[in-house]
Amino acid sequence: MFSIGNGRKVDLWNDKWIEQAPLKQLYPDLYSINQQQNSTIEMVWGEQEWNLSFRRALNDWEIDRLASFFGTLEQFKGTSTDADCLIWLRNKDNKFTVKAAYRVLTISNNQSGTWPWKMVWRVKIPHKVACFSWLLAREVVLTQDTLMRRGFNLCSRCFLCGKEAETISHLFLHCSWTDQLWKIFINLRGISWTMPGRVSDVLKCWNSDTNPSNQKERCKIVSACIWWTVWGERNNVSFEDKAIRIQKLKLKCLGLFFFWCKHSLMEELESVYDVLDSLQED
Ligand SMILES: [Zn+2]
Repeated sequence: MFSIGNGRKVDLWNDKWIEQAPLKQLYPDLYSINQQQNSTIEMVWGEQEWNLSFRRALNDWEIDRLASFFGTLEQFKGTSTDADCLIWLRNKDNKFTVKAAYRVLTISNNQSGTWPWKMVWRVKIPHKVACFSWLLAREVVLTQDTLMRRGFNLCSRCFLCGKEAETISHLFLHCSWTDQLWKIFINLRGISWTMPGRVSDVLKCWNSDTNPSNQKERCKIVSACIWWTVWGERNNVSFEDKAIRIQKLKLKCLGLFFFWCKHSLMEELESVYDVLDSLQED
């Protein structure tokens, strides 16, 4: 098994390094659509996150697999300046080798915590949702514009407002429906906000550093919460009266926000009003 130093000699998919079997064997489905099939770790590890891309946008059911794949990669603590080396945790005499074990323990941890890694993965939300945010930031979610680029002949219309073409930035940032969800949180925070053009820019700008830490954690949940709600609604378009639907959408979003604050942040909250009050910035 390999112990990773600078990652130059070890192949991400084909070598044994993070699990007892190569990742190719553990995740053949993801391997088959990955575009870095013969890359070394050095080539795909970008300081704080994995630069992986897929030949096509992932389907909904594949997001679970991706979540589990990233769960495995989470064990990796980053590269160092040392060379990669092979390790045996037990030597020929069946004795534990301190040297090898020591190496495993001292693999340098050079992750500095800045965006985008942190804003996607270090947020206390379900792993599957974090994966979805990551796909969004990379702009590989299966919206209609992605399908059209893949050759599907569609007349693209946003499922929510029905007015504009469905693109990632329209659906998740600028759609009049999504905008109403953003406004709830913008008003609660009492900040002035101009919506950026891309999901990745939202991740960079939305977070506020001046907050107390629990408030900061709550803020980090907001974007994922809005996106997850919108995506659910988009895949579940009903023929209800639009006025009722938008109210339901808002309630769903706030309900989810409350649920994540309570369960992921372990906050003692009596009602959704508590969490809303606490979002306000001084
Ligand atoms: Zn729309």
